[in-house]
Amino acid sequence: MISQTRDIVQKSLDALLEDEHFLPELQGEARKQSFTSLTAILSTPNHIHKSFLRVPLENGRVDRIPAFRVQHNNALGPYKGGIRFHEMVNEDEVVNLASLMTLKNSLHDVPFGGGKGGIIINPREYTDKELNLIAKKYVQYFSDVIGPDKDIPAPDMGSGEREMDWMMAEYKSIHPGYPYRGSFTGKSVINGGSLGRREATGKGVYFTLRYMMHDFIKNQKNLLTKTDNVFAKTALNYENKPLTISVQGFGNVGSVAALEAYQSTHLQNKVVAVSDRNVTLYNADGLDIPALVEFTMRNKGDLPVTDDQLKEIDVKADISDREDVLYLDVDVLILAALEDQIHKDNVEKVKAGIIVEGANAPVTTEADEFLSDKGIIIVPDILANAGGVIVSYFEWLQGRETQFYSEDEVFKLLFEKMQTTLDTVLPQFFGDPFPLRQNCYIHSVTKLSTILYRQGKLY
Ligand code: GLU
Repeated sequence: MISQTRDIVQKSLDALLEDEHFLPELQGEARKQSFTSLTAILSTPNHIHKSFLRVPLENGRVDRIPAFRVQHNNALGPYKGGIRFHEMVNEDEVVNLASLMTLKNSLHDVPFGGGKGGIIINPREYTDKELNLIAKKYVQYFSDVIGPDKDIPAPDMGSGEREMDWMMAEYKSIHPGYPYRGSFTGKSVINGGSLGRREATGKGVYFTLRYMMHDFIKNQKNLLTKTDNVFAKTALNYENKPLTISVQGFGNVGSVAALEAYQSTHLQNKVVAVSDRNVTLYNADGLDIPALVEFTMRNKGDLPVTDDQLKEIDVKADISDREDVLYLDVDVLILAALEDQIHKDNVEKVKAGIIVEGANAPVTTEADEFLSDKGIIIVPDILANAGGVIVSYFEWLQGRETQFYSEDEVFKLLFEKMQTTLDTVLPQFFGDPFPLRQNCYIHSVTKLSTILYRQGKLY
């Protein structure tokens, strides 16, 4: 997966090297050397911090838990990115996720660099008290390298506002008298968090789909009908058609995206399938998403797994294996679970015409190429799932100003920001033969390269 991000960054740099409008003042040998420097800078993180957290457990045992903070690049501002609490997380993955944050922030004009953290645990196996200690130890071990103007962590898989509240409080105790509100984002509202932060990623994912398939297609009909671009043809196929949607993952991102789709009046969409770590639920007439969300809130986040549980909440659905969600005959597949979900061994079974990456890196390079060659539109992670970090930025700003926005203001600002990005990348995407991911990378890399050049980092 690391190589995927690196390869696309390299392809983007190769395209820029050939583009005579890009930094025309750089010519000949100096141009070549500068691009070699860019490859070196963008393909490696600035810092990898690693520690083993010594955590005494309630049963008397002491665990040494591996933990990381990777700081990829801070040319655009302080490092920024979540901390993942997951048993499968590893150093390479955190490095890749940190570089995706650099590209994501650059793409959406968020004035932050890219960072990411990881703690190798299965949070379900620890008591609340132990998790509190793990969160505090993480801050103690990395307290010198994080901070409101250095590196601002946030939630990621397995962590949420509870962990961010704990971590901010620990940061405050370690640095008495210093600004602390901006040290972590994704906090609870009462602790200085932003309204709308919890829903931001899922809402942004659905907004991206809706804006592309509804507003953009309608407004840019001319552009789309004139070109023989294969992706424009795919998009036009779905024009004015109610879309059937399946959603993989029913956590913070998937459940909110599903609810948005369910409530949306724009596209008359139907969410026909959802899944989690246990099951896929399917109903060709559409699922009752609010009832399912309500069920998960009472059941530790899990969807119903038996007919009796479905009956209890009056939801009609077929129950099948959790993987089945990926292979349904639907128009749109939203991937909001883990990375590497669609890969070379299962890609041929995927039938959706549009794939939206709510999770980070859920489609591998080989699968991406295979699907793109067939004209399937893949809306990449750095474009679709940036709602979280965008509202994190609003949270950080609100903490500085000690002025807080209403929920409506937050979503208005979020959608405006995402729309600006979409209006930049979509016309180009439908006009040239590159997949959307490559297009987004070119935008991000162009900005990063220009800034690194202007900051004198390429000599
Ligand atoms: N973990 C989220 C992401 O991958 C949000 C990061 C943040 O809010 O800083 O984009």
